[in-house]
Amino acid sequence: MRDAADYAGAVPELPEVETVRRRLEPVLVGRTFERVEISDARLTRPFDPVEVAAELEGERVAAVDRRGKYLIVRFETGRALLIHLRMTGNVLHVRADTPLPAGQHKGAVVSLDDGSDVVYRDVRRFGTWLLAEPDEVEPYLAARLGGEPLGATFTTKRLADALANRRAPVKAAILDQRRIAGVGNIYADEALWRARIHPQQAAGDLGLGELRALHRGIRAALKAGIDRQGATLRDYRTPDGGSGRMQHEFKVYGREGEPCPRCGRPIEKIRAAGRGTWLCPACQRLRDPAHNGYE
Ligand SMILES: [Zn+2]
Repeated sequence: MRDAADYAGAVPELPEVETVRRRLEPVLVGRTFERVEISDARLTRPFDPVEVAAELEGERVAAVDRRGKYLIVRFETGRALLIHLRMTGNVLHVRADTPLPAGQHKGAVVSLDDGSDVVYRDVRRFGTWLLAEPDEVEPYLAARLGGEPLGATFTTKRLADALANRRAPVKAAILDQRRIAGVGNIYADEALWRARIHPQQAAGDLGLGELRALHRGIRAALKAGIDRQGATLRDYRTPDGGSGRMQHEFKVYGREGEPCPRCGRPIEKIRAAGRGTWLCPACQRLRDPAHNGYE
């Protein structure tokens, strides 16, 4: 089974999934999944989509949570539907008096007991739906996800522990979902720019001052994304069909050749952690590992 690390860096990231969660929570909690149709067998692989759909029918929603990039629909029975949007998945809530959207790529339709529908669409079909039994939910997530970067327990110490002794570039380390949950390519670049750290600096070389700056940078970048309801680059939509606005406010991501918002030097694009990476060559210098950021 694919897991979160395979597509680390794909849009949507934490802010986009959190935006979806916030929009779905008020329309899903207390509602019952009356009829479920899963038309894309890849969504529930290796399980039979017809069986999964039948299991979901009659489940009543207790909560809508998020862990990393997973959307978690918790049912009153203790079971949970773990939805991962991967690259192009999106969830649309369609009110009772509105016709369902036409067109292809509808992976699943959930009809709720108030007459409204939740439509799951996914052009590239990498998204996954896993119906987990009550005792499976937390172990499944714990095996795949590290600390929740906006959670109260995500301290500088926790970040330091996650990066300690790692020779990998810091960008690769913060994209690793088992270390920090929910950061992908966009918010990694934004966080490293905020922290003035070069993406290829070895993770284990960061000093305390740099770790503090990175901790602040990750949280600030993610919060900026949530405040603007995520970034719509291609397929991501909010559940009411709207777009995020974060794409208009990136500091470095996708801004090659444009001036750094801090120093004015042109933003450069390199490859780091196997991904297109944007940085300011003046604010984010690759330094000698011997100088580990302690002033
Ligand atoms: Zn700069």
